[in-house]
This record gives sequence, C-alpha cells and structure tokens, in this order.
Amino acid sequence: MLIDTHAHLNDKAFDADRAGVMERSLAAGVERFVEIACAPGDWAPGEAFAAAYPASVRLAFGVHPEYIKDLAPDWLPGLKACLAKPAAVAVGEIGLDYWWEPGRRDEQFALLRAQLPLCAESSRPAVFHARNGRESGQNAYADLLAELKGWAYSPSRRFRGVLHCFSGSWADAKAGLDLGLALGVNGTFTYKNNHDLRETVRRAGAANIVLETDCPYLPPQSARGRRNDPSFIPEIAAMTAGHLGLSNSQLADRTSANAFDLFGEF
Ligand SMILES: [Zn+2]
Repeated sequence: MLIDTHAHLNDKAFDADRAGVMERSLAAGVERFVEIACAPGDWAPGEAFAAAYPASVRLAFGVHPEYIKDLAPDWLPGLKACLAKPAAVAVGEIGLDYWWEPGRRDEQFALLRAQLPLCAESSRPAVFHARNGRESGQNAYADLLAELKGWAYSPSRRFRGVLHCFSGSWADAKAGLDLGLALGVNGTFTYKNNHDLRETVRRAGAANIVLETDCPYLPPQSARGRRNDPSFIPEIAAMTAGHLGLSNSQLADRTSANAFDLFGEF
C-alpha cells in the first residue's frame, strides 16, 4: 500500500476531473490520502470530499500562515469543532513561511502558537509547513524547531508530527527527528539538482519518512510544469526506494507503516 500523506485534492485545479484523479490514483496503488484543509473556507468542502471516500480519505484541519489576513474573529472554535470530527487525523498545515511572508513574523508565530495546543487537546499530530526566506539566515525550520522545544504534546504513537515537503538542511532534519517528527518526501526529492535533499533523506532513513505529493503543486521531475496528483506517488516512491537501497515494496511498507504511526491507522 502507498499513502499520499499531503494532498490538496479540493483545490480548484481538480474541479474538472476530481473523481477521475481519485480513480487513477487508487488504480496506481495509492490507497490512502490525507487531504489538507488549511483555510477556514476549505474545512467544509474537505469534510464533504472525505465523506465521498470513507475508506481512503482523512483530513488535516488547520490554518496555513498564507491565510493569516483572512481570518474571522471566531476561527478557533470553528477549527476545534472540525478536529472533533471522526475523519480528522491531524492539525495542519500550520507553521512559518519566510518566503512569501504572508504576515509579519510575530503574527505568524501568534497563529502557530494558537494552534499548537490543539494537538494535545484533540490527540492529533501536527502537519508543519516551513519555508525559508530568500536571504540566507532566514531559517523558518530553525525558528519552528526552536519553538517546538516547548511543545507539550506526547502521543502514544511514534511521531508527534511531520515536517511536510521537507526542504531544510541535515541539521534541521536531525533536530526534527529528535523532536519526534517525520519528514515528508515529495516530488522535490526527484528534482535534478536536489542532491543535498536526497542525501538528507538517506541519512534520516526509511524509518523516518512519509510520502506525499502536495498536489496540485510540486510534480516530480518527469512532470515538471504540469499539475501534480497522487498517481505520481509510485514514481516518487520508486526513486526514493532506489536511493535508499530498498525494493519498491519495502519502501511502500515502511513509509505506510510510518504514516499510520503518525496519523493512526485508517
Ligand atoms: Zn500543502
């Protein structure tokens, strides 16, 4: 079994053929999906989407820093209500974005700090977004991981969260692993120039990674410039397996077990 642990299938990019994309992805061996509903406007549609695929789709509910300016005053009770739904498996994606700078850093930290306690309250892990800035020294990973040193959430399972679409250094990855976080590996792993990322993932090891697409963004090398979707997971998995010296089925088993260690089995 393969799992796409981070998809935005409710994006309008899929409005014309969402059911067809799901059919192709399931036929490609991708059997579970975590849909990321990361803006208040995504929460109800996300729930409806998951309800259409009760055997295979679960949800992360949260507020991505990108939506910091659009929040209604009562967003937090609404989010708590979503996290109480049976289809909810994570809080996310939440974090810090120093590339687009959607809000001042103190505003981004405030939004992150408002959501971190929801993990302990709802017994759900976090899906973290971190993107470094354009200038060197603008390290969103370092700031996020420093903040998480004080994060009071200790689940019974192996992982407390995931650094989705990991693109940081080995030092950031190691700090994340030490905090009980998995690393999300997606199409960026296949990009020609991403040698450092491949080496970081190799050092992290198969025990600590989960697969994802972040679709409709970030297709693998073979489809760059096109829309991404979960049917590309086998391609990302095969390249990761080759790099880690595992068979495709070993890599699939390992990463799916990791995903269930993160989100719970479904
Ligand atoms: Zn995402």
